[in-house]
Amino acid sequence: MIIMKTEATEKQIDRVVKEIRKYGLRADVSRGEFKTVIGLIGDERKIPFDHFAALPGVKEVIKIEIPYKLISREYHKFFEGLESGTKVVEIGNVRIGNNELIVMAGPCAVESKKQLFRIAEGVKKAGTHILRGGVFKPRSSVHSFQGLGAIDWETAEKALMWLKETGEEFELPVVTEVRGEAYVDLVAEYADILQIGARNMYNQDLLTTVARKKKPVLLKRHFGASIEEFLSFAEYIAAEGNKDIILCERGIVPVGKGREYTRYTLDLAAIPAIRKETYLPIIADPSHGTGRRNLIFNMSCAAVAAGAHGLMIEVHYNPLEALVDGQQAITPDELENIIKACREISQIIGSKMNESQTDIR
Ligand code: PEP
Ligand code: MN
Repeated sequence: MIIMKTEATEKQIDRVVKEIRKYGLRADVSRGEFKTVIGLIGDERKIPFDHFAALPGVKEVIKIEIPYKLISREYHKFFEGLESGTKVVEIGNVRIGNNELIVMAGPCAVESKKQLFRIAEGVKKAGTHILRGGVFKPRSSVHSFQGLGAIDWETAEKALMWLKETGEEFELPVVTEVRGEAYVDLVAEYADILQIGARNMYNQDLLTTVARKKKPVLLKRHFGASIEEFLSFAEYIAAEGNKDIILCERGIVPVGKGREYTRYTLDLAAIPAIRKETYLPIIADPSHGTGRRNLIFNMSCAAVAAGAHGLMIEVHYNPLEALVDGQQAITPDELENIIKACREISQIIGSKMNESQTDIR
């Protein structure tokens, strides 16, 4: 990481970037109010750091040895004072990362225009900020419903259009999953946030292609991924110059007979642990994290108490009718109750939480 002098000129910054490229690496140029910081992206083994330290305009060269340096607090503290704060990701009028709790809710899968409209009406009334709905569903079994996106291109586009129109109708930005590289352009035309699902967290080509759309990305943690892996793959998005990343803790594989009780284990400690590492906002998904509708109230409250900036929750007016994940869907009334409780918790946590202990790792 190269810290430029306050008085460094554009020409000097350009020169450093060109030198970095000469060694086959890429540069992440971040301009703060007072300082410009240049991060190196790629294999740094052949870089002569002394040479860079001697270039005109360079104040100092600092080595950051963590695999997710671009999204780390360590990197950002040098130019944006984000040592203790969170980056606010803006999606239209919705801002995620500050003290206001943001809720993303809607059906697991978009099934019809009518179904989506009715659920959107309910979640809006309950206080939701962003409408969710899967068009391309990642399923464990090839024999189960794969989402309308799997039928054909025309149906996929129609379902995405319903999502966009319904979002507009209720003034809710929309988030939906991009399951493969082939769909990135299509989904990006309709969605406000591009979701990368847990199963695709390790798909670096997909991460890169999605990042290049320059739209906010919601990255879900793989159910077997360590915190370091999760952040390292988020770094692939940042390395494309897209730092509008929202992380999502959605549960890891339970131990022993755990699956008989909960679908996954929502890793609540990961939320404050991740907040100490990165300035990116993080939300929790208690729906997939538990797989049980009667646990969602408690786990939503717990996730917010743990420091989540938002929640993603699956909602259906009649969960028994849902084609996918009905067992974990709650009704709009239940959602309203959760949002009210979580808002109160969020206010207490937001005002009392001390994030400045970033050095405990
Ligand atoms: C989803 O949110 O629709 C989903 C499939 O979740 P995950 O990728 O976390 O399993
Ligand atoms: Mn689901």
